[in-house]
Formats: sequence, structure tokens, C-alpha cells
Amino acid sequence: FDVHGAPIISNHGRLKGIALVLHDITELKKLEQIRKDFVANVSHELKTPVTSIKGFTETLLDGAMESEELRIKFLNIINKESDRLQRLIHDLLELSRIEKDVFQLHWQDVDLNSIIDDVAQLLREKAKEKEIDLQFVSEQHCEFEGDPERIKQIIINLIHNAITYTPNGGSINVKVNRTEEAVELRVSDTGVGISQDVLPRIFERFYRVDPARSRHSGGTGLGLAIVKHLVEAHEGKINVESELGKGTTFSIIFNRKRE
Ligand code: ADP
Repeated sequence: FDVHGAPIISNHGRLKGIALVLHDITELKKLEQIRKDFVANVSHELKTPVTSIKGFTETLLDGAMESEELRIKFLNIINKESDRLQRLIHDLLELSRIEKDVFQLHWQDVDLNSIIDDVAQLLREKAKEKEIDLQFVSEQHCEFEGDPERIKQIIINLIHNAITYTPNGGSINVKVNRTEEAVELRVSDTGVGISQDVLPRIFERFYRVDPARSRHSGGTGLGLAIVKHLVEAHEGKINVESELGKGTTFSIIFNRKRE
């Protein structure tokens, strides 16, 4: 609580009482903490690749460059860490753009099936590398009002995650469904799953169940935060169900017409 007090003085100059104003600042404090955590997280996430790039560059300049083997090895690491920095900066800018009040979607008629086809095409190779069976089932036309580029981004992030968090030989199923008012998209995988106690946290910025696994796969920890914002900008709803060791299903419902 934020407390302000002031004496109440009578006409004769006597103290009649004290006025206290109690301000509940729990919410403010919470927001301030979230902001601080975010800045600390960003700093940490940026520092790690920069430290590594600097370290390996210095080692090269100090003489490691003489060895062709080390040169190639270190340059590859520097390249990978630069990629990570680039992805991180891209996702951070993206998130800040989406979170701005002035962020606007380019609304038009969206054909969900054709977007999923595009994304499946884009990620098929990645799935194949892990011998993951990527299936897309649709028996209906699923048109609705939305921003096609943003819908594509949502689907890329979900399928990309499904591939990342599914062991070799697993499968991913993408399904769409349509009713009079809404379309539903479901992305299911037979992956590692997420335990119930952390399930509500996965949409938080930088939250990862297994940080090492996420980093190894090039994740920034921002993908689902971006997805959630984009779904909400569309006035849609996202839901996740998961069972540890069995798999995860993300489902999104979009209204067919803007409210
Ligand atoms: P990341 O870049 O780490 O993948 P995301 O924001 O996309 O960041 O996801 C946050 C975390 O949620 C991931 O680190 C992972 O622990 C978990 N996660 C996301 N998608 C899945 C999935 N399909 N199966 C299991 N865990 C998942």
C-alpha cells in the first residue's frame, strides 16, 4: 500500500483527527516487477551470444587462426551465435511492434487451408530431417477475416515448436474445423509434452520448460508470446492441452467475421 496522511485541524487549531489515504499499488508493483524481469531477461539473452562471439574472436586473433581446424570451428560458432542474436532482435522488435496500441492488422478474407499448405511446404524438410510425419487434414473450406501474414506467422511458430519438441519418428497433426461462426485450428504432436504446473506459463516472454533444449534448437523463448498476442489481436482464443511424455495440442478459435 502507498499511504498518505494529513492532520485534520479544527477552527480553533486543535487536532481533530488524521486523514489517511491508502492506495492499493499491488498491481502497479506487479507490473513494475514484470518490466524489471523483462529488462533483466533481455540483457541476459543478449549478453550470452555477444560474450561468446567476443571470446572466440579474441581467441582467433590471439593465434588460433593459424590452425585451419580451429579457424573453421570457431567461425562456425561465431556464425551460429550471430544467428541467435539476429533472431532474438527480430523477435523482440516483433513483440514490441505487436504490443503497441497502434498495431494494426491488415484485415482481409483468409483461406486457412492454403496458408497451412504453404507453411507445411516450408517446414516439411525440417520435419523430414527428424523423420516426423507431418499431416494436414482438412475437409472443409475455412475462410475467415484476418491478416494472412500474421496467421501464417502463428502457424509457423506452432508447427515449428511441434517439430522442435517432438522426438525423431513422432508425428504432427494439423486439423481445421469450421462452424457457422468460427474456424478452429488444432496442432497436435506426439512430443515431450508439458507438465500441468507450468502449462499456464508457456505464453510468458522468455519462459522455457527446458532452457537448454530451447536454446539448442535456436529458440528465443518469445515465439508463444508473439503467437498469443497475434491471436488476441484477431479477437481469437488460444488454448493448450498437454500430457507429459505423450504430446501437446494447441487449438485456436477465430471468429469468421469481425465483431
Ligand atoms: P522457444 O523459443 O523456447 O520454443 P516458445 O515461446 O515458442 O519459445 O515456447 C515456450 C516454451 O514452451 C518452450 O521453450 C517449450 O518448453 C514449451 N513448448 C512450446 N511448444 C511446445 C510443444 N509443442 N511441446 C512441448 N513443449 C512446448
